[in-house]
Amino acid sequence: MMKINTFKNGLRQLDKANRVLKLSEFKMERLRKPEKIVSVYFPVEMDREGKKIFHGYRVQYSNVRGPYKGGIRFHHQVDMNEVMALAFWMAIKCAVVNIPMGGGKGGIEVDPKKLSEAELERLSRAYVRAIAHDIGPNIDVPAPDVNTSPKIMAWMVDEYIKIKLKTSTFAEASADRQNSKLKTEEKNRLLGTFTGKPVEKGGSLGRTEATGRGGFYVLQALLEEQKTNMTVAVQGFGNVGYYIAKFLNEAGFRIVALSDSKGGIVVNNMEKDSFNPELVLSCKKEKGTLASCYCVGSVCDLENGRTISNEELLELPVDILVPAALENQITGKNAARIKAKIVLEMANGPTTPEADEILHRKKITVVPDVLSNSGGVTVSYFEWLQNLNNEQWSEEKVNQELKKKVVSAFIDVFKEAKKQGTDMRTAAFVLAIRRLTENH
Ligand code: NAD
Repeated sequence: MMKINTFKNGLRQLDKANRVLKLSEFKMERLRKPEKIVSVYFPVEMDREGKKIFHGYRVQYSNVRGPYKGGIRFHHQVDMNEVMALAFWMAIKCAVVNIPMGGGKGGIEVDPKKLSEAELERLSRAYVRAIAHDIGPNIDVPAPDVNTSPKIMAWMVDEYIKIKLKTSTFAEASADRQNSKLKTEEKNRLLGTFTGKPVEKGGSLGRTEATGRGGFYVLQALLEEQKTNMTVAVQGFGNVGYYIAKFLNEAGFRIVALSDSKGGIVVNNMEKDSFNPELVLSCKKEKGTLASCYCVGSVCDLENGRTISNEELLELPVDILVPAALENQITGKNAARIKAKIVLEMANGPTTPEADEILHRKKITVVPDVLSNSGGVTVSYFEWLQNLNNEQWSEEKVNQELKKKVVSAFIDVFKEAKKQGTDMRTAAFVLAIRRLTENH
């Protein structure tokens, strides 16, 4: 199957927003191009086969509002168009949620499932050595994305700090200082080069759950905090998919279907049952697959559910569909068969522009990725602030501030959509591009 050019889709969303904005051709040309593209080929020592060369990317799209910010993806299908699209959406997202950060994204073409833990660590460290000149707390601040985790961020930041400690200016500066407190502060500042770190390595409380939690707050704001017992299907049971399923289940929504890259599961009784995401996760960890993890309430039982393909999951008659896996899942080919009333985009770019038109005609509400998954980068921003200011916020404070940020972004986008008579994605882009281009 031919891979969809995801970056072109991003540019079509931009063009659509410009029907409202009517920017000059120069401003549009600036928005259509990333500021810098870093493409690196670097060797990694494998356990058995000697050294292998890997291809990594870092795209720095825009820093007009602050340092570049965005995750690093490990996936065998990562390519330049995908990373450019993801970096572009990060620039839009940070502006939508109104944090002083720009847009960036990174990736390595690799199937991490085929690597041992030691190879994964060497790969992560080698990538950091290859891009070290281009990142830093005030330059570009990476974070986790698909197939990267807090543990990987810990390896990466450790490698970065090692490199910095070796550079002469930093070494001289440190040698001059007798005061060890100052050294610690400098190290903490360098920790701010990566976010999504484990808490004990300078991470923020609440970061791991933040993307799912933020999506939950946005949905609550859309539904005005009232409706529960609505049915939900979640595509993608990784970090983001797991937490949104967990928070929704805890709030009384019913999780009737879940999936990962190998396929999905659905409850047999769609009228009554809900998967228990926590039990499903521990079952999946034990069995290595979602299939047969039909955990409802406190019991996992083969009678409770059945397997389902990812395509079927998207077309289930549910109230809320949550794509939380990869791009281009709802396309011109299947959009007409989507039956959900709300699509809450937790993945980046799950809906193509063709699908957007069809869903709009079907009066399905699409809550766009640049709004609904902005909780992750928001708490990454809080983590960065904590590192720079040598602070540790309580989880309560993180969650309160997160809620304030994403709910206020939701209100801005919702009002803009009403004012312009557009869908929420176009409204979010209009709002973000105004913020990105004013005074620039
Ligand atoms: P992850 O690696 O933790 O999980 C990805 C999940 O998707 C896995 O369960 C995987 O099996 C599943 N998957 C992969 N291909 C699939 C397919 N074709 N069909 C169904 N499931 C499939 O990654 P994540 O961090 O949860 O990211 C998921 C999405 O959310 C991505 O689009 C990512 O860019 C976006 N996102 C992540 C964050 C974050 O903080 N991690 C923030 C914002 C947006």
